[in-house]
Amino acid sequence: MKKLTSDTTKENKRFLPYGRQSIDEEDIQAVIEVLKGDYLTTGPTLAEFEKAVADYVGAEYAVAFSNGTAALHAACFAAGIQSGDEVITSPITFAASANCILYQGGKPVFADVDERTYNIDPAEIEKKINSKTKAIIPVDFTGQPAELDTILEFAQRHNLVVIEDAAHALGAEYNGKKIGSISDMTMFSFHPVKPITTGEGGVITTNDKDYYEKLVQFRTHGITRDRSKLNEDHGPWYYEMQLLGYNYRMTDIQAALGLSQLKKLDRFITRRREIATAYTEAFGDIPELVTPYQSPLSQSGWHLYVIRLKLEKLKGSRKEIFEALQREKIGVNVHYIPVYYHPYYQKLGYQRGLCPIAEKIYEEIITLPLFPAMTDSDVQEVIRAVKTVVKNYAK
Ligand SMILES: *Cc1c(COP(=O)(O)O)cnc(C)c1O
Repeated sequence: MKKLTSDTTKENKRFLPYGRQSIDEEDIQAVIEVLKGDYLTTGPTLAEFEKAVADYVGAEYAVAFSNGTAALHAACFAAGIQSGDEVITSPITFAASANCILYQGGKPVFADVDERTYNIDPAEIEKKINSKTKAIIPVDFTGQPAELDTILEFAQRHNLVVIEDAAHALGAEYNGKKIGSISDMTMFSFHPVKPITTGEGGVITTNDKDYYEKLVQFRTHGITRDRSKLNEDHGPWYYEMQLLGYNYRMTDIQAALGLSQLKKLDRFITRRREIATAYTEAFGDIPELVTPYQSPLSQSGWHLYVIRLKLEKLKGSRKEIFEALQREKIGVNVHYIPVYYHPYYQKLGYQRGLCPIAEKIYEEIITLPLFPAMTDSDVQEVIRAVKTVVKNYAK
C-alpha cells in the first residue's frame, strides 16, 4: 500500500543526482551508425576517437581502454612498476588510483593532501620519496589540476614516472596547457558521471613512443603483430604473445559515443563553470561553509563541487547535514572516503592517522550536484536547500 503523506509536493519532487551524463540525439545516431557497420571493436572509429582525444589535449598518442581503471593498470605496467616498488598517491581519491599499483605488485604510499585544494601536497610527497619509489600518481581532484610543476620536478630529480589520474579533469588546464599533455602518462575516465562518457571507458595520453607501444600491447593480451618486433615469423597469420597482457579493449560502439561527446566537451565545461560560479557566489559569504579554492595556475574542469563544513560553527554533524540535504531531494555525496580506510587496505596494514589532513577533510566535505544538464532552477533549488539547511544547523 502506498504511504500517505501530507507533503506530496516534496514527496513527488525529483531527486537531483550529484552527476549525470548528457546524451543527445546526435550521440545516439553516432552509436547506431557503428552498429550498422563492419567493426564493432578495434575498428576505424576507435582509431578516430584516440586521435581526437590526443589532438584535443595536445598529446602525441592516446590509447583507449575498456575503463579508466584498466587504463591506470596499463600505465602502471608501462611505467615498469613491479613487486617491491613504491608508488606515491593521494588518499582523497577513488580506490582505483591506488588499486592499480597493487595490480602490479607495487605498494601504494599515501601522501597527505593540501588543506586548501585537497590535492596531494608536494611537500608530503617529498617526505615519502625513497630508493624504492618508482612513480607518483597525482589525482586532479574535482577537476582541479594537482601541483604538476613541483611534482614533475621531483620526478625528474629522483627518476620517477608521473602517471596523472585525470579522471575528473578532461578539458582542465594547468599553466595554460591542457591536462593530458603534461605528465608522462595521463588517464581520463569516461564513466557516465565524468566530463564525457562512453558508458565505460578510459584513455591514456602520452608523448612517449615506448609507453605508447607498451600500452597498446598490454591492452590486447600482450600480443603483437608488428613484423619488426617478432622473434620468429611463420607466415602472414603469425603473431606473438610476448608478455602477460589483458583484454582491456574499448569497442567501436563506445568510441563512437566518445567521439560525439568530445565535440560537446567545451560546452559542458562552460556550463559546469557557470554552475560552480553561481554556487560560489551564493555560498561565499556563509560563515559556516568553505567554498572550493581555485589555484590561479589552473582552470578546473569542475567535475565536482565540494563544500566543506566549519563544524565548530554548526550544531549538527556532517551526517546530519548530509541527511537533511537528502530530505530536500538533493543528491549529495562524499568524495572521498580516504582510500586506506577501506577494510582491504586496513588488512594490508595501513592505519588511521596516516594522513591527518585528509582524514579531517573527510569529516567535513559534502559534494553538491553538478552536471551540464542541470537547469537554472535546479541550481537555485540546490542553493535554497543548502542555505536553509545550514541556517537550521548554525550555532
Ligand atoms: C572514475 C575514477 C577512476 C576510475 O575510472 P573508471 O573508468 O570508473 O574505471 C579513477 N580515478 C578517479 C579519481 C576516478 O574518479
